[in-house]
Amino acid sequence: MKTNKLTKEEENIILNKGTEYPFSGKYDKFYKDGLYKCKYCDAPLFKSSQKFDSRSGWPSFDDSLYNSVREIPDKDGRRVEIVCAKCGGHLGHVFKGEQMTPKSTRHCVNSLSLDFVPTSDNKFDKAYFAGGCFWGVEYFFENLNGVISAVSGYMGGDETKTTYQEVSKGNTGHLEVVQIAYDKTKVSYESLLKFFMQIHDFSQTNGQGPDIGAQYLSAVFTSDKEERKTIKKVFDTIEKLGHKVATTIEPQAKFFKAESYHQDYYQGKNSKPYCHSFKKLF
Ligand SMILES: [Zn+2]
Repeated sequence: MKTNKLTKEEENIILNKGTEYPFSGKYDKFYKDGLYKCKYCDAPLFKSSQKFDSRSGWPSFDDSLYNSVREIPDKDGRRVEIVCAKCGGHLGHVFKGEQMTPKSTRHCVNSLSLDFVPTSDNKFDKAYFAGGCFWGVEYFFENLNGVISAVSGYMGGDETKTTYQEVSKGNTGHLEVVQIAYDKTKVSYESLLKFFMQIHDFSQTNGQGPDIGAQYLSAVFTSDKEERKTIKKVFDTIEKLGHKVATTIEPQAKFFKAESYHQDYYQGKNSKPYCHSFKKLF
């Protein structure tokens, strides 16, 4: 297995299962959008939406990426160690039942075991879906394997500044949109699109669910020829199944990230969307 060269300090943590001093690590008070990888082997481990402030002095995550972290109970049965599932490098410990977040799990990780890649990094592809209230669309994508981040925002209207208040009037041309950053080695654009078609009502022409208005219309935004072909193919398949697709294809435009209180809305409230649900289609 290909591994990265480690400094003495990193070796002490990752190979010799050491612990860095609390409040000393560079990712302790660090909340940018992106992906946390294993310092030793580069395997993706956690994403920023899983990170929370536990005030413990170490980076804390209430979940990990699918199958990326292995749990090993300590011999004395008191604590559970976590290691990278790919290389076995030491990460830290996991604590359950503390009720600090709705998932009641705290992966307590050494900053030195991690390497951060921001979502803005070009290595992640982006997809843009509008399917009514962005809270619900974001909620479903956050939990999908291969998705690095799902961010609520606006797209389609005037390419200067905009706000929720303005978009709510329904006459700005903007739709409520979710920006999906994804790892294409884990999930394809077609899979994302098919997933999107199963979590919103693509037949509704005046909004989504109880949310009526131009800002709640459904659309897929892209300016990529291959993606366009994929969208047409998937829409055709759905129409052959006997459904009408009202969701439109729109040219990708400038994305405006929504106000912070709109991000991770349901996660923060520990509730489920009123506006979206998964309906199997394919
Ligand atoms: Zn690793």
